[in-house]
Amino acid sequence: MADKLNPFAIAQRQLDEAAKILKLDPGTHELLRWPMREFHVRIPVRMDDGTVKVFEGFRVQYNNARGPTKGGIRFHPEETFDTVRALAAWMTWKTAVMDLPLGGGKGGVVCNPKEMSEGELERLSRGYIRAIGHYIGPDIDVPAPDVYTNPQVMAWMMDEYEKIVGHSAPGVITGKPLPLGGSAGRGDATARGGVYAVREAAKVLGIELKGATAAIQGYGNAGQFAHKLAVEILGMKVVAVSDSKGGIYNPEGLPFAEVVKFKRENGTIVGFPGAEKITNEELLELDVTVLFPAALENQITEENADRIKAKIVAELANGPTTPEADVILHQRGVYVIPDFLCNAGGVTVSYFEQVQNAYNFYWSEEEVHELLDRKMTAAFHAVHEAAQKHKVHNRLGAYLVAVSRVVEAMKLRGWV
Ligand code: GLU
Repeated sequence: MADKLNPFAIAQRQLDEAAKILKLDPGTHELLRWPMREFHVRIPVRMDDGTVKVFEGFRVQYNNARGPTKGGIRFHPEETFDTVRALAAWMTWKTAVMDLPLGGGKGGVVCNPKEMSEGELERLSRGYIRAIGHYIGPDIDVPAPDVYTNPQVMAWMMDEYEKIVGHSAPGVITGKPLPLGGSAGRGDATARGGVYAVREAAKVLGIELKGATAAIQGYGNAGQFAHKLAVEILGMKVVAVSDSKGGIYNPEGLPFAEVVKFKRENGTIVGFPGAEKITNEELLELDVTVLFPAALENQITEENADRIKAKIVAELANGPTTPEADVILHQRGVYVIPDFLCNAGGVTVSYFEQVQNAYNFYWSEEEVHELLDRKMTAAFHAVHEAAQKHKVHNRLGAYLVAVSRVVEAMKLRGWV
């Protein structure tokens, strides 16, 4: 992969910029540029045809100065160690910007869940936990769902972990199904947090969202719920959505329930009746008020940044915008709500889930929504103010807030 688009190289460059403004001393800067601990494992899995296939897995525990490392596990055919390192770094900044008592981590397995049976997926999930089980735990490192993993995968993983330690330990993993200690409100939390952030951004920008248009790239958990909640909470009209196969566009708006049903039945949104077919690239460049990138990394680059017409880019994906594109968008006055702020609703409700697991008492969905709203709103304004004060783009503003908090914790511990 070209170094320019290597997500970990990008994460390090972003940190370097913040380190300059914060005048970090070289030792502190160096410690933050690299994961503190990482695992590289091979997982043998008995496939349905009787053969054994060996899968490659990673877990990166980036920094635990503020608490146990926290972050999802991705199952993806193009997963690499560097992608996981970048995502673990971003989790460190994400928990810090939200002021959660957690560090940052991430995991990944190179596999294609779309081509695996349910049984194969279960054996892979359990095998991954057997490989790293002694190095995770409610007070050590706490995984969660991410791209192509879901509550069922979390259930298998928790079960495998409990077999290893020999007692109940629901706090080892979050994003669990409700009957196994999941939290109300975890399912839509990533999108909900992003929608709350968009609401706050519109306030500071003086933009009316009711009846305004939105486009969503990516139709997984975050993308689907962004569709639902942008309509429900903000009164917006979602005119375009896409998945890995392509996109659909209707200037009159796309009906959420029908599109989701179509995706469930056909495996893609492409072919949805009554909508024009567009490409993922065209979707990004639509003239809409809010663009939600909710797919993978490196979607908005120096190639297309000057053609983005949205007023607000709300990054539900991790790493969708490259550093070169950040500069272009900022110069053009596009308001970016950066990934580790915009999509932090997921880990925030994961944190609530852990708290509920620890005292074995569960909250209502309304309580979760209210607490999430308070956290998101506070974090949004902290970032907005930092960016304004230092006259930098919002991503750098978010870095300034997050990195200062992690550095403060490292200093108090006497690490630096
Ligand atoms: N995978 C999600 C993220 O990137 C959630 C992480 C978590 O809940 O720990 O933020």
